[in-house]
Amino acid sequence: MSSKRVANWGNYPSVEAEMLESRDLDRIREHITGTSKLIARGNGRCYGDASLSKNIVSSLPLNRFLSFDIKNGVIECESGVMLSEVLAVCVPNGFFLPVTPGTKFITVGGAIAADVHGKNHHVHGSFSNFVEEIVLLDETGRFVVCSGTREPEIFWKTCGGMGRTGIIISAKIRLRAIESSYIEQTSYKARDLCEIMELFEENLSSTYSVAWIDCFAKGQKMGRSILLLGEHISGENLPIKYKNEPLLVHQEPRLNFPFTAPSSTVNYLTVKILNALYYSRQRGKVSKKAIHYDPYFYPLDRINNWNRAYGKRGFVQYQCVIPLEQSKTGMEKLLAEIEHSGQGSPLAVLKLFGEADPNAVMSFPMKGYTLALDFKVSERVFSLLDKLDRIVADLGGRVYLAKDARMNAEVFGQTYKKQVSSAKFASLQSERLGY
Ligand SMILES: Cc1cc2nc3c(=O)[nH]c(=O)nc-3n(C[C@H](O)[C@H](O)[C@H](O)COP(=O)(O)OP(=O)(O)OC[C@H]3O[C@@H](n4cnc5c(N)ncnc54)[C@H](O)[C@@H]3O)c2cc1C
Repeated sequence: MSSKRVANWGNYPSVEAEMLESRDLDRIREHITGTSKLIARGNGRCYGDASLSKNIVSSLPLNRFLSFDIKNGVIECESGVMLSEVLAVCVPNGFFLPVTPGTKFITVGGAIAADVHGKNHHVHGSFSNFVEEIVLLDETGRFVVCSGTREPEIFWKTCGGMGRTGIIISAKIRLRAIESSYIEQTSYKARDLCEIMELFEENLSSTYSVAWIDCFAKGQKMGRSILLLGEHISGENLPIKYKNEPLLVHQEPRLNFPFTAPSSTVNYLTVKILNALYYSRQRGKVSKKAIHYDPYFYPLDRINNWNRAYGKRGFVQYQCVIPLEQSKTGMEKLLAEIEHSGQGSPLAVLKLFGEADPNAVMSFPMKGYTLALDFKVSERVFSLLDKLDRIVADLGGRVYLAKDARMNAEVFGQTYKKQVSSAKFASLQSERLGY
């Protein structure tokens, strides 16, 4: 056990915690039965307090691969294995993650507990759809093997349950076959919100889609953005320059943000300029290119510790989803409220989700548009986010728990009708949200 100050990716909030870092399952089990409240933590890539508590069990020492069925593309590993490590093993063998978030530096346990989504939710759903089996250590110290058919109730509470059912020890994941590690990226420039939504809906058959929005653009330009579609490139269609090494794995990040800036280096002006530059970088309406999966899926992973740029007070990410029929009105209201507050987000990402999974109890996705925004921490930001919560809740949407650090219990209760509770496995977030 060690005592340390711990914060997740947004560096807000932080807590003085006792952390158990062990791969001895008997030790972990004893700790669970002997401690009144605790929570599992993976790589701390959730932004807020979902994996923070005064007592934390780190899954990082559980970092072994258990089996790889290359014929059927099923990999089994312990929960602390990182998605980057899964890629390093499966890509050279012609497999890829079936669903991947915007960073590869999360653990398999964290991917299941938050039921993470990628740029292909409208086609493939979320991570849990590809989980064949989970081994869970529950609050009584029992190892439970569960799946969609074996103990399905526990399984569906664990997928998206934010660690409330116990410690995920290991899992079996079904991979997707690929012939190359390259993606054909097609980018479209959209002049406003209407056009970007039309583009998403015209391209529903595209495997991957995501848009970067300039949330400083006002009036008629509100919602101007770049849509990036993606398809895995077959061996046959791979450009000649990549044919020598068609299944090339990503490299370690070469750049590092060396220290936490004393105050944020992200301010209104720099962010406004960056957004305008990003939008104008693409000259024509449409452009196409073959790129490696790493810059396509994980552009932010290129700079280690980029979260330090937000300064000592940290930042929050706000991600919400609004049901499809209400999405246009909702997004207009959200962008107008943000613009009005003068607190633009340096990063604003729009995606279109497919149907919600009817089995998953507390999973975030539902059919509609999801918007993700970063804001540096300040009192003004919290009052802006309370206003955004009201817009989202009144339109039947919800806020993503994996990004949240400040929502209140009333909004949570109104927007998450089904909840996974536990007296033992509790985080600062679950205590704040009162479930
Ligand atoms: C740059 C960036 C981009 C992102 N993009 C996306 C995205 O596109 N889509 C998306 O869905 N998410 C995205 N995320 C969020 C991230 O994928 C999730 O928060 C993920 O859960 C983090 O996993 P982790 O291993 O870091 O776990 P942590 O952040 O430590 O924990 C997250 C949750 O999982 C639980 N948990 C972790 N390990 C276990 C375990 N072994 N057993 C039981 N519970 C456990 C914790 O209790 C907590 O509730 C992004 C995050 C970053 C930093």
